Amino acid sequence: MFDRLPDWVDPARLASQAREIKGVLPLAEMPRLSAVLADSEGQATARFVFVRAAGLPDRLTGCVEAVLRVQCQRCLEAMDLPVSHALDARLVSEGTEAAAIPDHEDAVWVEARGLSLHTLVEDELLLSLPVVALHGEGSTCAEAALREFAQADVARAQREDDSNPFAVLQTLKEEGDKDR
Ligand SMILES: [Zn+2]
Repeated sequence: MFDRLPDWVDPARLASQAREIKGVLPLAEMPRLSAVLADSEGQATARFVFVRAAGLPDRLTGCVEAVLRVQCQRCLEAMDLPVSHALDARLVSEGTEAAAIPDHEDAVWVEARGLSLHTLVEDELLLSLPVVALHGEGSTCAEAALREFAQADVARAQREDDSNPFAVLQTLKEEGDKDR
């Protein structure tokens, strides 16, 4: 079992020591995330590695994982959504011009007092939330949706069939007219 994740750290010092930091953080301690969850039971697990290479900006890599309880937008029941978000970003000091960071690189901004790992974990989990959460394939919810879809298909096919008898009558009538 991991210990509780520390909050404020000094990224430059950790990078100079090539440190790895692992820990857990209760979801209930992340107010912005809790606000969008069906309930905030459970905890996130995070692993961060601070990397320094000669001549290059310090980097932060790692992974944030959690099982989030969200509301399915189809059946409105709560569902467990496992999320796992990998991170590989450049550590950037506050005050650096955003333009100085290449477009393809993610940036983690470091404040004068350091880096809040708790805020970072919350940000990463918010980023990993889908726009619309739905129960997956094989669930009762997805099966019901498939059945509804199939029924709508049958109904449409029947509507098309219903129009056919008239078409047949029309053809018979035209043929009868020709014979007369
Ligand atoms: Zn559902």
